[in-house]
Amino acid sequence: MFLEGVRHHIGGSWVDAANGRTYDKLNPWTGRVFARVAAGDADDARAALDAAGKAFPAWAESLPIERQRILLRAADALDRRRDEVRGLLAAETGCGVHFAGVQLDFCVNLLRQAAGLAYAPAGQILPSDLAGTRALAMRRPVGVVAAIAPWNASLVLAGRAVVAPIATGNTVVLKPSEEAPLTGGALWAELLADAGLPDGVLNVVTHAPGEAGAVAETLIADPRVRRISFTGSTVTGRRIAETAGRHLKRAVLQLGGHNPLLVLGDADVDQAVDAAVYGAFVHSGQTCMCARRLIVDRSIAPDFTARFVARAAQLPVGDPSDPATVVGPVINEWALSLLERRVREAVDLGARLLTGGVPSGRCFPPTVLTGVPPEAELAFDETFGPVVLLEEADDAEDALRRANASDFGLTAGVITGDPYRGLDLARRLRAGIVHVNDQPVNDEPQMPFGGVKDSGAGRFGIGFAAEEFTEVQWVTARQE
Ligand code: NAD
Repeated sequence: MFLEGVRHHIGGSWVDAANGRTYDKLNPWTGRVFARVAAGDADDARAALDAAGKAFPAWAESLPIERQRILLRAADALDRRRDEVRGLLAAETGCGVHFAGVQLDFCVNLLRQAAGLAYAPAGQILPSDLAGTRALAMRRPVGVVAAIAPWNASLVLAGRAVVAPIATGNTVVLKPSEEAPLTGGALWAELLADAGLPDGVLNVVTHAPGEAGAVAETLIADPRVRRISFTGSTVTGRRIAETAGRHLKRAVLQLGGHNPLLVLGDADVDQAVDAAVYGAFVHSGQTCMCARRLIVDRSIAPDFTARFVARAAQLPVGDPSDPATVVGPVINEWALSLLERRVREAVDLGARLLTGGVPSGRCFPPTVLTGVPPEAELAFDETFGPVVLLEEADDAEDALRRANASDFGLTAGVITGDPYRGLDLARRLRAGIVHVNDQPVNDEPQMPFGGVKDSGAGRFGIGFAAEEFTEVQWVTARQE
């Protein structure tokens, strides 16, 4: 599929980059050009900020019924465009049929739930000891939100970044990833504009690979931007947080994970293998929630390992538009070579490769390693792809200690025959999200999504995001 062009969306118009430049975004499976994209810079970011700043006062005061209607219309339109969007997700990001369905379901539901936010209570009346004084805590939209999104679950992650801020009366400048300018950017602008969103409420600025910094810095530094929403890697998130801190602005940070799945000695091994296969390899291991470490009780480790490795080795690898495919292409050459290099490094340092490890075309096959030494990058850093590490634990306490030893804390899972023990471990796991007896790649629009430690700060999820993207104003009125 080749699209003539992805342009900026600024103040309700589709425009080329002011500098006239474009870049070619490639289809990760075919390697051919998917779209020619506006390669914008700080000038385009400033134009988008002007549009968002101008639109803010009217949008902040818009009627709830107007916001609700727009979001519901967008939900219906997205629902009708499922086949088309599934094709775009495959061609732009290599997203398979199953995970495209997951993204579409999430986003339609996200829009519908966000429509309800328009009517959520916007404050409280507080008791005051000052006689005759009425005290109010009023929730107000913050202003312009700068939303910086990644490529990997492009539809969901751009949607999550813009829908709640808009529903609560903010205007937004979205900077998509250079790897997902359409499904993680322009498509959202088109959907919401067609649904009646006023000009300037959502603006999208794209840029060439390697040029994110100038656009992001311009957005964060601008005085009209009052909140930053960032989803992406921990390395980039740290940079964003530093820039935001310099400008005394709060950033909601949704970052990387190195997520453990604990399989306790009393676990049903079939259930554990199902959870681990889905958790490690769905979307080719390219979600922040994927299981990266399987920490398995020594007593069942041989049985679990034999069954898990056999299943992993048989997963269909290849064309993302084939519904049978589980593991599709990796997003780009750089990501493919990083996977290859890190697996090779772990093996050179003494790890045992149980399956996979060698790229086939643009795909990296399901790869399982054991005995990965702590100094190997795979052991401590997020590696975005279908690679998972197996570790044995002496018992549940040892599994917990190993899981908590990570610098990351996004998701974790516990598979056990005793759900009460699972809940007790969940309480003691240092992770923002824990699933007991379920696979770890799991999200719903209303859930408090977010990490602890190096996995970020702040929560998405409709009601929770509403707090992140509004601020409380204390107002008093003396009546005598
Ligand atoms: P990335 O950090 O490379 O890019 C994310 C965004 O930051 C993109 O828009 C990119 O253009 C921009 N960016 C890159 N360099 C920048 C710079 N120097 N200054 C400002 N902006 C810059 O991440 P990615 O490869 O697009 O996405 C994968 C990562 O995102 C993984 O680490 C994954 O775990 C994480 N992620 C986290 C969540 C979550 O909710 N916690 C969800 C999805 C993905």
